[in-house]
Amino acid sequence: MLVAVLALQGDFAEHEAVFKRLDVPTCQLRQKRDLEQHFDALILPGGESTVQGKLLRDLDMFEPLRNRIRDGLPVMATCAGSILLARQLLDDPAVHFGTMGISVRRNAYGRQLSSFHTTGTFAGLKDVPMSFIRAPQIEFCLPGVEVLAEHDGRITAVRQGKQLAMTFHPELSGDTRIAAYFLSEML
Ligand code: GLN
Repeated sequence: MLVAVLALQGDFAEHEAVFKRLDVPTCQLRQKRDLEQHFDALILPGGESTVQGKLLRDLDMFEPLRNRIRDGLPVMATCAGSILLARQLLDDPAVHFGTMGISVRRNAYGRQLSSFHTTGTFAGLKDVPMSFIRAPQIEFCLPGVEVLAEHDGRITAVRQGKQLAMTFHPELSGDTRIAAYFLSEML
């Protein structure tokens, strides 16, 4: 099994570290020719979605990756990554991959709450550490999207088929359970 981590911008190294702890090999996707190797899953890290979307397009990686996701490649997205997957951005005309039936508002927590740390339940897993950093909010889900976690009445993690998206960063805590869930439930 090989997990590919989009490594254009953001906290891709932290995601690689989580899979290393699980003894799962990873490779970095940095340029178009990195897409030629075989990989079984894709990680879209947190960071800045506008920058990631621009680099994906500038490097000609956007279409091939969107096609792979549409064809059912298992994908796990955190924070900016979930913005890349969303079908609609509220207050923002941009759409990136648009493969997931969610409407997302960027930087939805306002200034004071823009970054915080909490623990919560994710798909029945208890006390999972969750770091929110200038996090988006998932405001609407289309049918077929299953809610896996919420915090203070806000949806924070969703799944649709082989796509898993969350608005927080599980990879910053050293807790490997969400990555393990992704591998066992979606590959
Ligand atoms: N605010 C960022 C964006 O809009 C996401 C932040 C993150 O990934 N931690 O893309």
